[in-house]
Amino acid sequence: MRLNHEVDEGHEEERELEIQMKFIDPHIHCVSRTTDDYLFMARAGVVAVSEPAFWAGYDRSSASSFNDYFRHLLDVEPKRAARYGIQHFCWLCINAKEAENVSLAREVIKLIPPLLDHPLVLGVGEIGLNKNTRNEITIFEEQVEIAAKHDQMILIHTPHLEDKHKGTSIITSILKNEKRIRPERVLIDHCEEHTIRMARENGFWAGLTIYPVTKVTPQRGADILEQFGTKMICVNSASDWGESSPSMLVDTALEYRRRGKTDAEVEDVFYSNPCRFFGQCAKWKLKPQ
Ligand SMILES: [Zn+2]
Repeated sequence: MRLNHEVDEGHEEERELEIQMKFIDPHIHCVSRTTDDYLFMARAGVVAVSEPAFWAGYDRSSASSFNDYFRHLLDVEPKRAARYGIQHFCWLCINAKEAENVSLAREVIKLIPPLLDHPLVLGVGEIGLNKNTRNEITIFEEQVEIAAKHDQMILIHTPHLEDKHKGTSIITSILKNEKRIRPERVLIDHCEEHTIRMARENGFWAGLTIYPVTKVTPQRGADILEQFGTKMICVNSASDWGESSPSMLVDTALEYRRRGKTDAEVEDVFYSNPCRFFGQCAKWKLKPQ
């Protein structure tokens, strides 16, 4: 990647900076993104992505819709990503929003266990809570049971805004009470300053999602990395069909680097940390640098 702002006009040849850093976006919804996004990621040095199953922006009307969605995640998207030299992995579940329809959710949950052995499935996710309702909690617990029974890693979606702290607290206490779940194999995503401690002090990994509007910006993301340290944190763009962008991951890496961090320190957070977390699944072959 070329950092134009670091190029001094008169000494372009000498000062031009080619950065060879590699990145991983540990949370991105590629099904909603264009080929331009794949091209951008490839140019920027993103070599692998993981895509959790999520809400499509509307409630699906039947379990067969989810069957097709899972086929998209397992077969179509890895081939699309491979055209840009990017490895694509995924997580399967029914998301919290559609868990309100408990009978549909249970039909979807039945589809998951036979797919867990697929070589590109890293685990169960993104499960969690949206509005912290009783139905969401029921379906969350049933999917934690699937993960425990099949020894799967878990990727957690925490609620946004005012529901986040309470939701994260409910999620972490359910997970802590399930003795078959090892916290270091769970990533609690969309953490902010007021929830990141709750995740890491309980032994879980924390995810930082960087958005172009509202919520955590690249600057605030870099602040959090400096304030809380980089251990057991994965930074992601969570790009989907809404206002979001794969560039948020790279912008945060550049912001972190701009603060005097070495390339090795940047790569340790934005490449090696995801490798450390995902590497707990034997299907993930990339190693930390
Ligand atoms: Zn997501």
